[in-house]
Amino acid sequence: MAEVPKTIKQWQMVQPTTFNKETKEKIPGKLEMAEIPVPELKEGEVLVEIAGCGVCHTDLGYFFDGVPTVSKPPLALGHEIAGTVVAGDPAWIGKEVIVPAVMPCRKCILCKTGRGNRCLAQKMPGNSIGVYGGFASHIPVPTIDLCVVSDKKGFALEQLSVVADAVTTPYQACKRADLQPGDNVIIIGATGGVGVYMAQTVKALGAKSVIGIARNPEKLQRALNYGCDAVISTIDKDNKTIVGEWRNFCKSNGLDNTGWKIFEVTGTKAGQDLALDLLSFVGKLILVGFGMAKSEYMFSKLMAFDAEVIGTWGCLPEYYPIVLDMVLSRKIQIEPFVEVRPMSTIAATFEEIHKAGSPAKRVVLKPDF
Ligand SMILES: [Zn+2]
Ligand SMILES: [Zn+2]
Repeated sequence: MAEVPKTIKQWQMVQPTTFNKETKEKIPGKLEMAEIPVPELKEGEVLVEIAGCGVCHTDLGYFFDGVPTVSKPPLALGHEIAGTVVAGDPAWIGKEVIVPAVMPCRKCILCKTGRGNRCLAQKMPGNSIGVYGGFASHIPVPTIDLCVVSDKKGFALEQLSVVADAVTTPYQACKRADLQPGDNVIIIGATGGVGVYMAQTVKALGAKSVIGIARNPEKLQRALNYGCDAVISTIDKDNKTIVGEWRNFCKSNGLDNTGWKIFEVTGTKAGQDLALDLLSFVGKLILVGFGMAKSEYMFSKLMAFDAEVIGTWGCLPEYYPIVLDMVLSRKIQIEPFVEVRPMSTIAATFEEIHKAGSPAKRVVLKPDF
């Protein structure tokens, strides 16, 4: 049994990357180790000893790109957490858990009408729970949303931290898309940190044909073993050519080219523009990725196509046990896409992933304070 600590050790974002307004000079962000007292746990709260926390693009957005956190720095970033309960409600002590990336308030109108994943009063570690985040030794969290891992089925607990965000976000996206067995699906960004799970999730839920679109031919080749039935590389192709390749795929496989569900996972302008070009009659475009780009589109096409464009955010905590089961039963493979590193590599790891843009594996940082 792990001990109840007196302090929490954290890698705090003391300052995000900023730019000098006059000289346009970049002032690099700063991460520093800090030690803070364990707070008094409120009714319904427990202290989780963190086994691992995944590095998400959202963290890099806060650190490098000026996306503001709700709680002002200094704070620990990180919202993809798995760990063990070490203090608080005795009924919870010793349980291994996944901490959902967004925890709804359970009181507001959105929560009461089944839309709690987009609750406006939701709490997100490493963003809106004060100073607390996943790049730390411990975190206090409410028990109501925790997803219990009763049998790890051979996984290390830290590997399962990706269930907290990267694997659950696609499941919520499928719910938003009303994905049904037999649906045909296109995934733009099928090889990225969330895209690899998007493809496996739609396949596990019974999608008929899954086309993965991305740049890197090697990663696309790998995607064929993980949910994709066909892949299209975008390298050196304009959208017209790519749309043509998709139409040819439909023709040669005897598939209708109407009613396709398109998941856009990159959040980039190129990806979003392509998604809009692929959207056709009674189709659905689901925006899973986030970016700051603006696109131009003839909105009346939606009317003429009887089509839909839908956003999706986070995942309801009530879906976590379903997604965890899909991972534990290997319907969704996570091992090839997760790399565990010591948490003390945080600064170098942030730098590396920021530069790489789309790393081959999700990095999970394991506390080594
Ligand atoms: Zn995230
Ligand atoms: Zn709410």
